[in-house]
Amino acid sequence: MRVLADQMMTCTKEKFVITSPIGDLILEQCQNGLHSISQTVIPSDLEGKSEHSSRHTVMMLDPPEVEKSHNINETIKWFVDYFNDPSITKKMEPPKICQYSIRKDTFRGKVRLALMENVKAGETITYQKLAEMVGNKGASRAVGTAMSNNPLSILVPCHRVIKSDGRPGNYGKSTRNQVKQWLLEFEGAEL
Ligand SMILES: [Zn+2]
Repeated sequence: MRVLADQMMTCTKEKFVITSPIGDLILEQCQNGLHSISQTVIPSDLEGKSEHSSRHTVMMLDPPEVEKSHNINETIKWFVDYFNDPSITKKMEPPKICQYSIRKDTFRGKVRLALMENVKAGETITYQKLAEMVGNKGASRAVGTAMSNNPLSILVPCHRVIKSDGRPGNYGKSTRNQVKQWLLEFEGAEL
């Protein structure tokens, strides 16, 4: 664990903020790739779609003009394409991800990678099925935890993981359920 902690400290992160229809997104890029994507705290949820559709574009807010790395440009392009037409991203390679952000040697990391690779825009999967996909049928609760602590919001599509009864379920620790609903409808998922 000590070695791991030391390695993680070697990530030097740069922060970028972009606008999006679901509110501003904070991207963190380190020298290993994309380190985190998070949704801003305010607004905590969609307050009405009309208000948000006026901001239906992705653009860089902060810092406004800097020389950006290739990878962060790829990430921004990914979001521009996604919010333009999510189906485009089905065939796109995701931006390079930092290996300390999603660790292949952990259960949570495996769940997140399996989700990102196998459940594309317009599709959904249940917590149970995702647990089965990573070979641990009984682990749907642990899958839920891996989703609620997802470090790469939207890119790792935890919003596509729904309850067994077909309801979308919670998002953003239940503070953003309307955002989840919005994303699923936007992607054309059948609910
Ligand atoms: Zn990193």
